Amino acid sequence: MSIRDNAWQMSDALNNKEISAVELANDHFDQISKVDKDVHAFLYLDKEGALAQAKEVDKKRAAGEKLSPLAGVPLALKDVMTQRDIPTTCGSKILENWRPPYDSTVVTKLKDAGVVILGKTNMDEFAMGSSTENSAYGPTHNPWDLSRIPGGSGGGSAASLAAFEAPLAIGTDTGGSIRQPAAVTGTVGVKPTYGGVSRYGLVAFSSSLDQAGPCARTVLDTALLHQVIAGYDPKDSTSINQAVPDVVAAAKKLDVKGMKIGIVKQLSGDGYQKGVSNKFNDAIAELVKLGAEIVEVSCPNFEYALAAYYLIAPSECSSNLARFDSIRFGLRVGDDGVKSAEEVMNLTRQAGFGREVKRRIILGTYALSSGYYDAYYGSAQKVRTLIKQDFDNAFTKCDVLVSPTAPTTAFKIGEKSEDPLAMYLNDIATIPVNMAGIGGMSLPCGLAEEDNLPVGFQIMAPAMKDDRMYLVGGALEAALLSKWGKPILDFAPILAGSK
Ligand code: GLN
Repeated sequence: MSIRDNAWQMSDALNNKEISAVELANDHFDQISKVDKDVHAFLYLDKEGALAQAKEVDKKRAAGEKLSPLAGVPLALKDVMTQRDIPTTCGSKILENWRPPYDSTVVTKLKDAGVVILGKTNMDEFAMGSSTENSAYGPTHNPWDLSRIPGGSGGGSAASLAAFEAPLAIGTDTGGSIRQPAAVTGTVGVKPTYGGVSRYGLVAFSSSLDQAGPCARTVLDTALLHQVIAGYDPKDSTSINQAVPDVVAAAKKLDVKGMKIGIVKQLSGDGYQKGVSNKFNDAIAELVKLGAEIVEVSCPNFEYALAAYYLIAPSECSSNLARFDSIRFGLRVGDDGVKSAEEVMNLTRQAGFGREVKRRIILGTYALSSGYYDAYYGSAQKVRTLIKQDFDNAFTKCDVLVSPTAPTTAFKIGEKSEDPLAMYLNDIATIPVNMAGIGGMSLPCGLAEEDNLPVGFQIMAPAMKDDRMYLVGGALEAALLSKWGKPILDFAPILAGSK
């Protein structure tokens, strides 16, 4: 058993008693202590809690209790999900040292399944960003090349997988924060259908778009994790009260014969790196070989998706982040007993929020102000409906849609941090999925010839048909694995340059 194995292999080894959950957790803590000074995937490690959980699982297994498939398998948790008594910062100074008094539903389900939560992962502040450079605690580095970004906002979760610090991770995706980090780190990430996984205890950025989801190194591993965290939750009013599709069976099926796969015309061409387009086309050729039928579809309103997203997400964030008022949570600055509550609030927010968060709050309050509400927020909501209609039309012609996940491979740390628009453009291909509330997956489809860095392949499926992404993703992954002869991370000079 090695930390480079997949979660399902670890699960088998645990079941066969080749390794204990405590040993497996310790192996991962060893790896973290070796590499995380360079990668900086984690903001907090809960060694005590993780080992206690692992011990409990070992005890139950020894007693012959029936356990969930992922019992004893380690996981890295994005620091935007609450975990009782464990610091939850959302990558922000304003929540430094805040310990939530409750578990998010995702964490409750992970604990119930016996998953071992190693710690909390780094992220762009309040999940706003595409590079993890907006974390108040310093950037995460891409394990493929430490001078490059690991994507964002969930760069810590994706990097922890690529650096073999954890076989499973939880991410959240508002405009691409699971899929884009997966794409640039050569890992797999799934944004489930909106409402498919509970948002209870996911610190809200943009409530109508936010969705937690599974991240791992293989499609089957993400499916196993999806199965654990998904399902109806009365504590989330937008949770869908329907059976979760059998994503594990779909991931294992490996048969796409006769499936109709639609290439979205608007999500390719200009603006996409040559090597990204080439690897995407190679993957399409593999799907043709597997017997899938390829069609081209047009989604004309996707052109406006980014602009509409950057009205809706900041609008909702300006309302959601109002709760960080220096009184109820975390940081309090300037409270000398003389200053007014308003002054303390101002000083706290000035010191506690970073530049990007402030920019979005200002944009959002402006878009929602009475004179502009209809022109900005109202128009953006109409665009949202048009995007959904584009998807509905496209899905009358095909079972799933595909595109590159991100327009480029991992860029250099610092390259785009002074140019918010350039940063926003990273999500051009991922945002439509969030706007329509449907599911999206990213899996690696090769290395771009220019820089030998991983390229992501995105699969989009209709709402509550998440199993289709796993079906196509599983089959494509198997075909690519046999073509390459080894998993994509075996091509990475992992941490070769690490000090
Ligand atoms: N990069 C996008 C943004 O900055 C998406 C972030 C996310 O999905 N949380 O808003």
